[in-house]
Amino acid sequence: MRVSQMLWVTLREDPAEAEIPSHKLLLRAGYIRRVTSGVYVYLPLLWRVLQKISRIVREEMDATGAQECLLSQLQPAELWQESGRWDTYTKSEGIMFSLTDRSNRELGLGPTHEEVITSIARDMIRSYRQLPLSLYQVQTKFRDEIRARFGLLRGREFIMKDAYSFHADEDSLKQTYALMDQAYQNIFTRCGLKFRGVDADSGAIGGSGSQEFMVLADAGEDEVLYTADGKYAANVEKAISLAPEAIPSRFTETEKLHTPNTATIEKTCKFLDISATQDVKQVLYQAVYDSGMNVLVLVSIRADQEVNEVKLQNELIKLTANYASKTILSVQICDAEMQSKWTTKPLPVGYIAPNIPDSYIGDVKNVAPQFLRLADRTIVELKNFVTGTNEHEYNIVGANWGKDFQLPEHIVDIRKARPGDRAVHDPAQQLESARGIEVGHIFQLGTKYSKAMGANFTNESGEDLPLVMGCYGLGVSRLAQAAVEQSHDKDGIIWNVSIAPYHVIITVPNVNDPAQMEVAEKLYVELNAAGVETLLDDRDERAGLKFKDADLVGIPFRIVTGRSIASGKVELVDRSTKQATELSIESIVEHLKALVG
Ligand code: ATP
Ligand code: MG
Repeated sequence: MRVSQMLWVTLREDPAEAEIPSHKLLLRAGYIRRVTSGVYVYLPLLWRVLQKISRIVREEMDATGAQECLLSQLQPAELWQESGRWDTYTKSEGIMFSLTDRSNRELGLGPTHEEVITSIARDMIRSYRQLPLSLYQVQTKFRDEIRARFGLLRGREFIMKDAYSFHADEDSLKQTYALMDQAYQNIFTRCGLKFRGVDADSGAIGGSGSQEFMVLADAGEDEVLYTADGKYAANVEKAISLAPEAIPSRFTETEKLHTPNTATIEKTCKFLDISATQDVKQVLYQAVYDSGMNVLVLVSIRADQEVNEVKLQNELIKLTANYASKTILSVQICDAEMQSKWTTKPLPVGYIAPNIPDSYIGDVKNVAPQFLRLADRTIVELKNFVTGTNEHEYNIVGANWGKDFQLPEHIVDIRKARPGDRAVHDPAQQLESARGIEVGHIFQLGTKYSKAMGANFTNESGEDLPLVMGCYGLGVSRLAQAAVEQSHDKDGIIWNVSIAPYHVIITVPNVNDPAQMEVAEKLYVELNAAGVETLLDDRDERAGLKFKDADLVGIPFRIVTGRSIASGKVELVDRSTKQATELSIESIVEHLKALVG
């Protein structure tokens, strides 16, 4: 491609709309333009990058035995009602764009495709003989993200590769899951990324085991906790660890003490001269179930620890049946405003005990009349601990479960693992923290969707069983930007050869010098003929500006047809190291063929 014929506009200044380096660079180097919040145009240079990534993705998907297809983006509400996700996706979470057509039918724009693919499987898969089976597509997804930001990293319209697999049993699912795991590792390696596979929460998609692939970068929205021995890595949402040992309490008698002005943990510990590991704190949440029922959730947890709200939500989902519900719409801290709506008198905030009476809850429509009491495991073994008394400015010390308080009925792990915690697999290992950009997520879904939607097959003994499913997502457009986030310098982008829009840029310092143009034209033709994707910067611009643009756009190799052509040579510059070498004009094509091959 000749630069003089391209739609290519670079910007000198950092655009105000961008916060992180990769977003700034993609805008400045002329790869993307914003249309509206979270919606971008992929300009010709980026489109080449996306196609290269997609080609790698397709090759690796094909290698697992999956077949490519293209599913519909317009999806009828009925399919999502069958799976039970229509209300969550359009209303409570609100991530799905939905619309009503001229015949008054409701439709959504696909944020993901479990429902559509399961409906196809229900129609077309009859027998175990058709299994296992994997399908994938590379397509635009739509999600009305609340916090669309960082350019392509969190868009509202973005390109995803999603794959779905169908199996007769869990063993078969595990085999395909392992193949996909390997395919993902191959993809990220081939794209030249530094990445890490981590244990992940399965979230609203549902199912059992799942793994995320993180591109390690400081701008990442996700926190990864891992151990140096390489044996454990998990998203903080999912991570487990051993809490620090509790320091034994010095109290031997149970006693109610006046503790003025100690509504925070810090103040209580200072006043009583105790470690927070001996204190049991109560944290109040408000959960909304899809039946419309509001539930006040009282979490008791060791005071030096924090609640992991993803784990909490997962525990609350298990209790949906208690509230005549199928799912949970939201969980959040119950703030003073909500408390005042639902309680008969002000709660003794800062001094709440595990046994706070249900009589605090008013007779309010759609509010459960009893607290849902959950205990984090950290409090179970505590002896002679400190906690509130339900009385303002009073704490109890030397308290014990069974004697002074009942342990809550539900004992669960809802503690947030933290850097510095000891690892479960080896307490000698400590958790360390890193930031990551999630570029892929693979799930063992199980039968969640097939059961809900009646997608069955007949097994060898003639039984009708729900299909066992897996699903495998990969953010193609997010990956492109993550690669830039991980690989750039002060002058611009540094693409890996495998996903660079072009391999080589020929910069002609002076296009009015016929000798320079002649060499440039010759190399341009020969390189392209040899399969080396080449740009020719034939613009009538200052050499300095062209060098700056070449650095900014990040093409891996630059050929300069400068003074050295007099001695039959050109200069070759490596974008990543900035190292320049002079090579004979005759040898350059072979040399580059080997470099990009
Ligand atoms: P996140 O936690 O970042 O919101 P997710 O868990 O919703 O992502 P999945 O539903 O598993 O993501 O989607 C599969 C892949 O699609 C993700 O791993 C990510 O690479 C990509 N992806 C998801 N949401 C977006 C988005 N808004 N913009 C760009 N890529 C996205
Ligand atoms: Mg995720």
